[in-house]
Formats: sequence, structure tokens, C-alpha cells
Amino acid sequence: MDAQIVVLPGDGIGPEVTAEALRVLEAVARKGGHAFRFSEQLMGGCSIDRHGTALTPGALAACKASRAVLLGAVGGPKWDDPAAKVRPEQGLLALRKGLGVFANLRPVKVHPALLDSSPLKPDRLQGVDILVIRELTGGLYFGQPKGRDVRDGHERAVDTLEYQDYEVRRVVELAFRLARGRRRKVTSVDKANVLESSRLWRQVATAIGKADPEVALDHMLVDTASMRLVMAPASFDVVVTENMFGDILTDEASVLAGSMGMLPSASLGDGGPGLYEPIHGSAPDIAGQGIANPVGTILSAAMMLRHSLGLPAEADAVEAAVHRAIADGCRTRDLGGALQTSRMTDEILRRL
Ligand code: NAD
Repeated sequence: MDAQIVVLPGDGIGPEVTAEALRVLEAVARKGGHAFRFSEQLMGGCSIDRHGTALTPGALAACKASRAVLLGAVGGPKWDDPAAKVRPEQGLLALRKGLGVFANLRPVKVHPALLDSSPLKPDRLQGVDILVIRELTGGLYFGQPKGRDVRDGHERAVDTLEYQDYEVRRVVELAFRLARGRRRKVTSVDKANVLESSRLWRQVATAIGKADPEVALDHMLVDTASMRLVMAPASFDVVVTENMFGDILTDEASVLAGSMGMLPSASLGDGGPGLYEPIHGSAPDIAGQGIANPVGTILSAAMMLRHSLGLPAEADAVEAAVHRAIADGCRTRDLGGALQTSRMTDEILRRL
């Protein structure tokens, strides 16, 4: 396997955690005789400082020409002025759009040894293994018209929640495909009692469910889903939902695992390069101290092995090594331990 991988370390702890994930990918390449060619590009605040824009056309072109993109995190106090014309997150949006990644996958598993790190009662967390799939390029965040005007003497703001059937179909079909390799259960989350776009979503999901009876489909209203995620999180397998609903539910689900530093994500499109990043931000409060938890980024690299590089056994091996390291008590500071970022990776590599 020969693959070009673009690395966007970004800002804050981004460069610290991506460096650790690269060590793991290099170990996988060495063991399996693969050639991963890494090329580093700027994105976020560091790109604003150098080029005046969060993502240059050249960096985006490199990402588009690659097999997969590994991203650390972007942003920080230096670029946080809300009035600024150029902002680090613009790079993220441009990248997602440029790569056409319409599905954001966030797996949430709670390691048995970390049950006490979560704000939820341990008995609620037994067996939690959820894959939340958020539609990423449509819905309320992109629908037109959006904007401000004045109507009847009052200032008015408009956002539009719009979907076409094909946009729903491709993300729900992906949910079904991925459910087949898991516990074969899809929960489609909508607000069909109120929203027309949700009624279309439900109609499309129902048709896909009829065509694939081996996967159990249920529909759940988003308000009910937000409650059940904390009341009975182990009852979910694959959850698929609209962009803004997913934005909120994925953050809610991430709390189950105890630390932001533990969770990976993947954003996938139609066969183009996938985008892989931890769910956390640039953590400016701990940047430069070598104490960030690299696990979320290492598990993102495992998702890259599975979804973009066609190496599922290697992905399993990385995940198993992380699992064993945690089971053996290896902990960075966010998990109540004292291991430095690179020492945590050493422990994972020893078990790979
Ligand atoms: P954050 O995720 O950066 O940090 C939240 C808290 O979690 C902090 O206390 C931090 O120290 C801790 N934390 C996060 N990742 C950790 C890790 N790997 N190991 C140990 N502890 C970790 O969120 P924030 O503080 O709200 O945002 C900081 C900056 O990151 C902001 O500029 C924000 O815009 C940006 N951000 C970027 C992304 C992204 O690049 N995708 C996502 C979220 C936030």
C-alpha cells in the first residue's frame, strides 16, 4: 500500500498530537511494508499568520490530491476576535466543502477502566458503543436564503433548513453500510412532528430500511434522542441525523467518554480523500507543555487506516493497542494520570 497523506497540524496542541499519530502510522507502515508519504501543510491561525488566509488554494489542492488528510486542531486566543474578517475556522469549512465530505462519523466508546472519569453514573455507561453520523454539508447550516433584513420596522434574521432527497439518501445509506459491520441497528433522528425537511428525511430513511431488512431501523425525535443519550446510551448503535442536530448530539455524546482528548472523528465523501481529526480543539490552556492526550488523534489515524487506506486489520490493531494501554493504567493528565504526550504514545506503540 502506497498512499499520500496530507497532515495539517494546525494550532495549539494540534502539532503535538498529530506528531504522535504519525509515529503510530509510521510503525504500522514499517510492520506491514506500506509506504505512507506525508506532506505537511498550514491551516488555521498558523496559515493566517503566514499567508493572510486560513487555507491557501495550494494547501487545499494538496489535500484534494491526497488519499487522506490528518488534521490536528485550529484556533486560539490570538485569532479569536469575532470581528476579524479572517478566522481559523474558515479553513475548516473550506476544507470540508472542498473535499465534499458529507458525513461526519464520531464513534463514542467508553473504556471500562474509565467509567469513573465520566460525569454519568458508571452503571449507565456499561457497554456504550455508539457511532453518531452527522450530515455535514447540508441542512440548517447551509440552506438558502439566510441573512438579515428589516421587515415591518423590525430587524429579521433567517436561516433555512433544506434537504434534497439525494443528500439524505447518501448519508443514511452510509449509516446502513456501517451498521452491517456493527450491531445492525440504525436510529434515524429527526423532528418529523414539526419540520417538513424531517418528514422527507424520514421518508428516505424508511425506504432505505425497507430495502435492507437485515438492519433494524428506528426513528426518534431529536428531543427524545438527546434525553436517551444520557438516560440509556448503551441502547444506541448507529445514529444518523441532520447537520445541526448532529452538531449538538455529537457533543453531548462525547461527554460520555470522560475526556475530550479520547475521541476521534472521520469525515467522508463519495470516494475522495477522507478527513480525520480528533474532536477536541486546540486547547490553548495546555499547548506547548507536552501533556495533551494524543489518543483522539491516534484513534483518528486508525479510522483513516480503516476508511481511506483499506487496512481494517491495522485499524483494529491500533485500537486494540490503545485499549490495552488504557486497561493497563496508562493515563495522561486529563485522565488523572501523569504521562507526557509522547510517553503515552510510547505505551501504545509497545502494545501494537
Ligand atoms: P478545546 O477542545 O480546545 O479544549 C477544551 C478543554 O479540554 C480544555 O481544558 C483543554 O485543555 C481540554 N482538552 C482538549 N483536548 C485535549 C487533549 N487532547 N488532551 C487533554 N486535554 C484536552 O476547546 P476550547 O477551549 O473551547 O477551544 C479552544 C480553541 O480551539 C478555540 O480557538 C476554538 O475555536 C478551537 N476549536 C477548534 C476545533 C477544531 O479545530 N476542529 C474544535 C473545537 C474548538
